[in-house]
Amino acid sequence: MESLVSLAKRRGFVYPSSEIYGGLNGFFDYGPLGVELKRNIRDCWWRDMVQRRDDIVGLESSIIMHPKVWEASGHVAGFTDPLVDCKASKQRYRADQLFFAAVVVEGSTIGYVSALESENTAGELQTAAEQLKRKKAVQGTLAAVQPKEFTEATAEEIPLIPSPATGEPGSLTPPRAFNMMFETNVGAMRDASSVAYLRPETAQGMFVDFKNVADTTRVKLPFGIAQIGKSFRNEITPRNFIFRSREFEQMEMEYFIHEDADWAQCHEEWIVWCENWLRSIGLPDSHLSRYTHPKEKLAFYSRGTVDIMFKYPFGVQELWGIAARGNYDLTQHANASGKPQDLFDEGTKKKIVPHVIEPAVGVDRIFLAVLAAGYAEEDVTDDKGNVEKRTVLRFSPRIAPVKVAILPLLKNKEQLTNRARALYLKLRRNYAVQYDDGGAIGKRYRRQDEAGTPWCVTIDFETIEKPGDTFTLRERDSMQQKRITETELFALLAEYVY
Ligand code: ATP
Repeated sequence: MESLVSLAKRRGFVYPSSEIYGGLNGFFDYGPLGVELKRNIRDCWWRDMVQRRDDIVGLESSIIMHPKVWEASGHVAGFTDPLVDCKASKQRYRADQLFFAAVVVEGSTIGYVSALESENTAGELQTAAEQLKRKKAVQGTLAAVQPKEFTEATAEEIPLIPSPATGEPGSLTPPRAFNMMFETNVGAMRDASSVAYLRPETAQGMFVDFKNVADTTRVKLPFGIAQIGKSFRNEITPRNFIFRSREFEQMEMEYFIHEDADWAQCHEEWIVWCENWLRSIGLPDSHLSRYTHPKEKLAFYSRGTVDIMFKYPFGVQELWGIAARGNYDLTQHANASGKPQDLFDEGTKKKIVPHVIEPAVGVDRIFLAVLAAGYAEEDVTDDKGNVEKRTVLRFSPRIAPVKVAILPLLKNKEQLTNRARALYLKLRRNYAVQYDDGGAIGKRYRRQDEAGTPWCVTIDFETIEKPGDTFTLRERDSMQQKRITETELFALLAEYVY
């Protein structure tokens, strides 16, 4: 993870926000390469989700919406995380990410240990338990620890659980609900009547505009409304780089189906669609898995939620949530606004409120996943037999920030640079290409490897001296080289960049 974050900074993918002022926790800037990568992720999704389908249309709703939207959706009352304060250190924790265990020796509890959620929470608790036993010089067999979330701690247990910050008990507060919506005021008055929220999800835009879309387009059930845009959550513990931040971007789609439709089948079809889409942008199966939310943990209106999980360097975590939400949202907005959110069903001649399947994913989480999956450090041997390290980002050509680098072999040979420039200008009408004439060719290849550029094209003496106008095409992953014509190069790009 450290090398990834450092490469991201060094090559201009991601910078901490407002870095010259020390940064702002949970906020990030995307640099020149990052912004291209992010845009490509969004564009691929939009093309596949909206433009290449007959049944899905797009939307861009405002970030600040009427505050009643968030009352009706349940966010004002319930969009909370359980917050725990450490009164001694002033640190704050999410109670569902803080774990504790009783330390039990020969059947009696001699104290408690705590640890923050990690890949190895149970192991850390066990080690801490052994240390506590030694410190207290208690004899006997230590039982295996039974980790519990801090949310499950009883009133008697809370004062006995040590704070992860100080290692001492007595300073942790009972968990309380902390609303994650950012508040602001709209207009010149700063009072309760002007309070508004930065949206914590894009989804409500689709519900609130549902009737507008249904009435102004020719959509028929089943149909979807998709949106890409920024969302904001005042996360208690933003962490793991851009995985959990306070300002992030979502790509969400609400797929409206008939109330009598087979929602479970539709749900499964969307999960498969999302998995295939992730493969199409280069995420390997070895890193993808599914997590089905247990029935008892679902919100009352939810029929089922499956998360597509990704193996990040810090553990397996949610990438994409696909939820079957029934007709909860439309019904809530119909009740709160007094405006029916239904459609006329030609079949039964009755009004129906559609149900919804919602695939919701974060652009930044995909960004981090492709960075993590693509990152490799390799030993390579050059022509002279010297072994050196190369860092490479194996991005799929679909999302790579630069598709091809055009490299004239020599900078000061006009015949080479003229041909290279001409090719570069022609390619850049359709593709993100880079022209690089600085330094030895090997150095330039390495530079492009680090940027994740799938192909380098070198204009060399053979190009200008031999018939056929061919270039050297060097492939990033295999490092194989072959000769290629301009027509073949365009055909290659058309096949892989779609
Ligand atoms: P988590 O449990 O990780 O907080 P969530 O279940 O609250 O996520 P949803 O409300 O389902 O997430 O949001 C949909 C998607 O938005 C998530 O799958 C994730 O990709 C993305 N997302 C949510 N919160 C954040 C965040 N703080 N930073 C970056 N992406 C996020």
